[in-house]
Amino acid sequence: MKKNVVVIGAGMGGLTAALRLAREGFRVQVLEARAEAGGLASGSVHEGFSFDAGPYILLDRPGLEWAFASVGVELGEHLELRAIGHVYSVDSPGQPTVNIYSGDAKTAEEMEKRWSGSGDLYLRFVRKTAAIEASLRPLLYGSAPGPMSLLGGGRWRHIGFLLRSLDSVLRTSKLPQPVLDALSIWTHVAGQRPEKAPSPLAFVPALVHSVGCFYPREGIRAIPSVLEKAAVAAGVEFRYRTKAKRICTGGGRVTAVESTEGEGFSADAVVSDCGIATYLQLLGQEASASRTRCEKLPLQSPGVCAYLAVRGRMDPPYLRFLLPGGDERCRLLIRPGVPNPEEKRGEWYPARLLGPMDHLKAERMGAGGQGEYLDKLLEERWWQEGIEEHRTVARRTPAEWGTEYSLARSSMNPVMTAKFMREGRLAHRSPDLRGLYLAGSATHPGQWVSFSAISGVLAADCLEKDFA
Ligand SMILES: Cc1cc2nc3c(=O)[nH]c(=O)nc-3n(C[C@H](O)[C@H](O)[C@H](O)COP(=O)(O)OP(=O)(O)OC[C@H]3O[C@@H](n4cnc5c(N)ncnc54)[C@H](O)[C@@H]3O)c2cc1C
Repeated sequence: MKKNVVVIGAGMGGLTAALRLAREGFRVQVLEARAEAGGLASGSVHEGFSFDAGPYILLDRPGLEWAFASVGVELGEHLELRAIGHVYSVDSPGQPTVNIYSGDAKTAEEMEKRWSGSGDLYLRFVRKTAAIEASLRPLLYGSAPGPMSLLGGGRWRHIGFLLRSLDSVLRTSKLPQPVLDALSIWTHVAGQRPEKAPSPLAFVPALVHSVGCFYPREGIRAIPSVLEKAAVAAGVEFRYRTKAKRICTGGGRVTAVESTEGEGFSADAVVSDCGIATYLQLLGQEASASRTRCEKLPLQSPGVCAYLAVRGRMDPPYLRFLLPGGDERCRLLIRPGVPNPEEKRGEWYPARLLGPMDHLKAERMGAGGQGEYLDKLLEERWWQEGIEEHRTVARRTPAEWGTEYSLARSSMNPVMTAKFMREGRLAHRSPDLRGLYLAGSATHPGQWVSFSAISGVLAADCLEKDFA
């Protein structure tokens, strides 16, 4: 008899877990609250323009390839991944613009013109971090890598690096502050400070120059679509508009999942792609070490987002960041028309304006204050440079993200701090309850689409091992 697995949530983590388990011979049902798969990585259409909901760039192609290969899908066969040449620029008041290109030489050359000596420093920094990244990469593909996993391949030499914050690693480069700001932009855009962020975020420039940055011809939203189709073909049953209300338990293990409509789904095992909501909501008020831990974790807000139609030139870079300084958070303008000119409709292109927010501050402001913050960002002039005309076709505040994507406390996941990375993210195999497994961004030392996909494979492997 096939064992029943219920996967809660068809985000990137739920999809790879479901597909991997179906291929291993389990009977898999996926319960998804929304009408479609993909979660935060899905898309939506407004006034004839297709938008990605959240993600806008693929920074870790090898990780996504690894996850796809692990579920028997060839990434390149299904998606046309377009390499981005001029990836991003960062502007700060009173400072020259810092440009990051896929080529390290071009990036360094431009830096050198502005800050003498910085070109060599940059190349040295990128070479050094690339070597550490290559050495530590195998750890990304293992569930809960502990201190022992640092012993192989000379990885112990990087223990000191792993114990530091992003800020402290960047400072060793001796690069000028505007360059450091540009290199830590992925931390700023996650609404975090480099002093709190983990050191592996320093690998991003090395990834940009060695692997490259990509955007699929069909948008990031095409990535979960490919997985969903493969899962259906492998026999996974999807139940859309079916929201799990409760994971039922008995004798210290999971027994079933109950939907908000009162329907029961019996389960030998459950994979939850719902992060902290698994412990805070789906398991009722049952006290557990994981619940206590989830209550205390600092959370990451999805921030505010305006989905725009813009008329004007689509000159690179693809991404334009503004770091206003002081207490103000970074902002980002995304223009998919740069890598994908086909997205043009008449004279108009889709674009997005993103404003990361501090989670606690967003909670304090409430839906009204969040909306006012987005209004303020929309009025700013910096992002309108080169845009002749624009209109907002849709918008989303953290409160709306929370409702539309069933996010616990309107948060996309716990913030990836250096402390959280050292202590270990939420475990793929629940330490509190037999038959419960977790996939998704809260379980991996990275929150990108690729890491969420990897997490599903790792959760499925824990489950498969226990049932073997
Ligand atoms: C604004 C923004 C920008 C981002 N930019 C990037 C980027 O450029 N590059 C990148 O790689 N990543 C980016 N990310 C991160 C990335 O999108 C996410 O980390 C990833 O998609 C999360 O996948 P997941 O499987 O963990 O969870 P989710 O996508 O949250 O999926 C969870 C799924 O579970 C469903 N669900 C929840 N509760 C229930 C329930 N009770 N019953 C049934 N179903 C339920 C939800 O509807 C959802 O479909 C961004 C995210 C945001 C919000």
